Amino acid sequence: MIDYFPKSEILFQKGDKHEIIREINIRLAGFGGNVPTDEFTERTEKMIKQFQRDYMQVEETGVVDIKVIQAIDRFQEEYPIETYFAQAKCKCSTLKLVKGDKACGGFGNGKFEQQKQNANTIEMYRKYEYPGLHRTLFWVLRAWKFYLYHLDQRNMKIELVKSGYRCWSDNNAHNFRQSTNHMGKALDIHMIYNNTKISLENLCDDAREVMISYCNAHYRWNVGNVISLEVGMREKTPKDTAIAATWIHFDVRSFELKYLEDKYFVKSAEQVNGLSMQSLIINKG
Ligand SMILES: [Zn+2]
Ligand SMILES: [Zn+2]
Repeated sequence: MIDYFPKSEILFQKGDKHEIIREINIRLAGFGGNVPTDEFTERTEKMIKQFQRDYMQVEETGVVDIKVIQAIDRFQEEYPIETYFAQAKCKCSTLKLVKGDKACGGFGNGKFEQQKQNANTIEMYRKYEYPGLHRTLFWVLRAWKFYLYHLDQRNMKIELVKSGYRCWSDNNAHNFRQSTNHMGKALDIHMIYNNTKISLENLCDDAREVMISYCNAHYRWNVGNVISLEVGMREKTPKDTAIAATWIHFDVRSFELKYLEDKYFVKSAEQVNGLSMQSLIINKG
């Protein structure tokens, strides 16, 4: 492509505020964790440094230049999520539904809209069917995959997204399940590993620990604005009610309400990706 920018020009740095920074905070969220804010925060700086160190393998500057922008586009292309996104659609249309329930098109029917952005409702109990899957989930999935495959060296592989969106019709068809985490905020991942000496339970716990180390995921939901994980066999206590023994459940439930606005929930892999970073920068003028 044409070289629009001198290689060393700083495009964004700590203290800046811009819609493109929001995109960077979404797309690199798996590198140490972040929320979709338009501000270049301390966390953004740490995230850029981690991306430079681990993915780009260049000197950590913590500022965004055109090389970082190009590397984000490369990272997107190297880790496609189209198949995972298709697997994450609600499967209620394949089920025998409870009488009176309607199948959704893959992302709910917008039920319980009155609870949308209602600060009086605890996120765990919010019944609102978000209008898609949160973009951050798939960008974290990408980064986690990068770490699983390249740095971790244990050859753990993501098999598939077993469960993504689960609308109320789907819940009802599963014995009137009450959980709402999967209404756009969560993914369940199945893993494979060609080492029969390691149990599936241990494999899932090992993979979870990679997400904790590199993506700053946390067990349970006590810490805000991070990726939350259901515990596995290694971490469970008698108090835990949600246990993911043989799969990995991660979600964005602990995000503040402003990071759970409808605009972050999307219905296609194209919308997860958005325009390339390079075209956003060129159009910025
Ligand atoms: Zn459905
Ligand atoms: Zn789950």
